[in-house]
Amino acid sequence: MLGSGVGGYTAAFRAADLGLDVVLVTRDERLGGVCLNVGCIPSKALLHAAKVLTDAQGAAEHGIAFGEPEVDLDALRGWKDGIVERLTGGLAQMAKAREVRVVTGEARVTEEHALDVGGTEVTFDHLIVATGSRPIALPDLPDDERIIDSTGALELADVPERLLVIGGGIIGLEMATVYDALGAAVTVVEMADQLIPGADKDLVKPLQKRIEERYDAIHLSTRVTSVEAGEDGVAVRWERGDAEDGGTFDRVLVAVGRAPNGRGLGLEEIGVEVDERGFVPVDDQLRTKVPHVFAIGDVVGQPMLAHKAAHEGKVAAEVIAGEDVAFDARGIPSVAYTDPEVAWVGLTETQAKAEGRTVEVGLFPWSASGRALSTGSPSGRTKLLVDPASRRVLGAGIVGANAGELIAEPGFALEMGAEAGDLGLTVHAHPTLSETVAFAAEVAEGTITDLP
Ligand code: FAD
Repeated sequence: MLGSGVGGYTAAFRAADLGLDVVLVTRDERLGGVCLNVGCIPSKALLHAAKVLTDAQGAAEHGIAFGEPEVDLDALRGWKDGIVERLTGGLAQMAKAREVRVVTGEARVTEEHALDVGGTEVTFDHLIVATGSRPIALPDLPDDERIIDSTGALELADVPERLLVIGGGIIGLEMATVYDALGAAVTVVEMADQLIPGADKDLVKPLQKRIEERYDAIHLSTRVTSVEAGEDGVAVRWERGDAEDGGTFDRVLVAVGRAPNGRGLGLEEIGVEVDERGFVPVDDQLRTKVPHVFAIGDVVGQPMLAHKAAHEGKVAAEVIAGEDVAFDARGIPSVAYTDPEVAWVGLTETQAKAEGRTVEVGLFPWSASGRALSTGSPSGRTKLLVDPASRRVLGAGIVGANAGELIAEPGFALEMGAEAGDLGLTVHAHPTLSETVAFAAEVAEGTITDLP
C-alpha cells in the first residue's frame, strides 16, 4: 500500500482483515493523509466553530442577544489539532491491531515488485497506489508567507483584516466561511460564471446571496493576472472581460484546485500508464494497465473526495483477496460545508441539459417547510431529478442547513433504483428537514401542486 490517506488506510485495513500481509508506506509522520491532517477533518472543526459564531450573531433575530463573542485563536487551534491527533492516533492503533507494518519515507517503484522507501527496499505481490493529490499553485506566485494554500489556511496563524480567496470552489468557500466568521473582510475571485462550478446554479444562489451580504466582494468570470508581495500587503490584479481591477490584501488563499500525485513514483517505468495531468487510469476493479498494480483515490480521478477514495480502497483490497467485486456507484455525493450547505448526488440539472437528457424536476422550496422556518433556514431548497418513463430517481440537490446529511436519503434511493413515489410514500417525521425530500418527490409525482 503506497499512501496512508483515507484510500490507503481503508484498503490496508480491509486487506489485513481479509488475511493479507500488508505493508503501509507513507512519507508522512502521521497516518490519515490529507483528509484527516489537512483536509476534511480540521476544516469541519473550524467550520463548526464558525457556525457557532454566526448562529450567536443571528440569534438576535430570534430575540436572544449575546455579547460580542471573544475568540481565543490559540485555544481554537488547539481544539482543532486535538481532534486531528485523536483520529490519527486511532488509525495508528488500528494498524497495530491488524499487524499492518508501517514504513515511513519517500517511496519510488524500482522494479515490478519492489519499492525503495528512503533507502529501505519493500517487496510486494500486489501494489495499491494511493498517493493522493496536492494543491495547484498559480504560475509566478511570489514566495511570501502571506500567500497560502488550504493547508496554510487551516493552520490559523492569525485572522487577516483583508483576505482574498482565489477560487470559489468548495475548498475556497469553506475557508472563506471560517475566516469571515472570525472577522476577516473576505473577497472571492472565481474564473467561472458561478460559485461552486459543478453544482446547479439554483442551488448556489441562496449561498451566493448570503455571502454577498457578508463578504466584501465576489468577482465571478474573473481571472487573476498578477500577484505582487509589497510592504503594505499583497497586491493582486484581476480582469473580467476587458475590465481590469484589483486590491491589496493581508493574506491571499490560493484554492484553484488539486493536482494528482501520479508522477515521480517510477510507475511508468514498470508499464503503468500515467496521463498527461498525472492521473493513473484504472478499470472498475481499480486495476492499472499492469495487472498486479492497483490505484485508488484522488490519484485516479475526479471527484477528489474522501468517501470515493475509501470505497475504491475497499474494492481494490477485496479484488486482491480474490473477491469478484467492482466499483459501481450510481452516485457519489458532493458537499460544500458552507453556510448554507450545498449538496448534490447523481445527475445534476446542468449535466442533464448538457447531455440533452429529458428529466422531470421535483422542487420543494424550504419557505414552505415549518422546520426550515423555525430553524432560520427559509431560503433552502430540495430538488429531485426523476426519469420521466421509469419514475426512478436520477439525482438530487439540496441547499440549506444540514444539506450534507440530508443528501444521504436521495443517495440511497438512487443506489437502490427507487422511484420518486417510494420517497413520497415513506413516512417522514414531522417537522424535519428530511420531509423536504419526500415533498420534492411528491412535487415530481404531481401529488403536491400548490406551493408558494
Ligand atoms: P491523500 O489523502 O492525499 O493521501 C495520499 C498519501 O500518499 C499521503 O499520506 C501522502 O503523503 C502519501 N504519498 C504521496 N506520495 C508519496 C510518496 N512518493 N512516498 C510516500 N508516500 C507518498 N473530501 C471529502 O470527501 N470531504 C471533505 O469535507 C473534504 N474536505 C477537504 C478539505 C480540504 C481543505 C482539502 C484539501 C481536501 C478535502 N477533501 C474532502 C478531499 C479529501 O481530503 C481527499 O479526497 C482525500 O484525502 C483523498 O484521499 P487519498 O487517500 O486519495 O489521498
